[in-house]
Amino acid sequence: MATLQEPKFVYMGGKLRLWNEALLHIGCEAFTRGLSVFEGITGFWQPDERFAMVMLRRHYERLRRSARLLHIPFLTAYEEYEGALDELIGVLVEPGRNMWARTTLYVTEGHWGEGTVADLAVTAYHHDTPVSPPINVGVSTWQRSADLSLPARIKTGTNYQAGRLARIEGRARGCEDMVLLNQWGRVAEATGSCVLMVREGTVCTPPATEGALEGITLDVVEALAHSMNIEFIRRPIDRTELLVADEIALCGSLAVIILAKSIDGLPLPEASPVLTALQTRYLDAVTGTAPHPFVKLSILPSCSASKSAEAPSMAASR
Ligand code: PMP
Repeated sequence: MATLQEPKFVYMGGKLRLWNEALLHIGCEAFTRGLSVFEGITGFWQPDERFAMVMLRRHYERLRRSARLLHIPFLTAYEEYEGALDELIGVLVEPGRNMWARTTLYVTEGHWGEGTVADLAVTAYHHDTPVSPPINVGVSTWQRSADLSLPARIKTGTNYQAGRLARIEGRARGCEDMVLLNQWGRVAEATGSCVLMVREGTVCTPPATEGALEGITLDVVEALAHSMNIEFIRRPIDRTELLVADEIALCGSLAVIILAKSIDGLPLPEASPVLTALQTRYLDAVTGTAPHPFVKLSILPSCSASKSAEAPSMAASR
């Protein structure tokens, strides 16, 4: 079972706080209606001992879009957003250990959309195994919500209820993750990642109109595929086609590219040459081993191998 890390500090209300002091009131809409929007972002040490976040501006822009759709005010400028991550990760990072961060806008005041006020909170965790070994993936009986009820295109906490149920269902069937179908019975996405499928050398993924988040990693994988002369297309995928795929993987900021070893109990071919090549290329790009022009890395100035060693005492004096 995955255990949650409890880092010493979080960022909330514009400053660093101790983990145990990062509290919200039970009366706020973040609790009563599960109202929050968020992003999950990864950060990797680079060969020059600097620390960089992956596609940070794209995550900021998606957070802004999610907030706008749900009428949540988001007043934080990009520089401030990056600064919050820099401040927090600067005190938590350790040499050689990669991290992931969650930036969340919690609705702290307001009622039914009147007088809505939100606070940006940032949590960050060590991320020592960016790529997990191949997993068993199932197809859930739970559906991705339709665009007319809860838009899957944005990242809001409430969207994850169906994914949570799907994971519970999956565990009972020996699956580590699940694919959710949309209202038309076609592939939408997995519980926390997008779906990649290979047929005859072509990488296919459903477009967002099929009920998927507008995935940032997906765009990166598409750009990498183009530069590797691998065909990449976005088109609807029905369940049967997924079950007869040559290769399947789940892709997302935290998932990176997780290969599937079986789909709904059917073993997949042992080797996944196309998706393995993309996985390697992705990791080379984000760790700075082989940079790629599409893969934007934002250096966090407070993090450097020498500085991070003294960070905890700096934070304690705040
Ligand atoms: N779908 C869902 C439901 C997700 O939670 C995620 C992770 N953010 C993704 C897809 C992949 O998106 P991204 O590549 O932008 O992280």
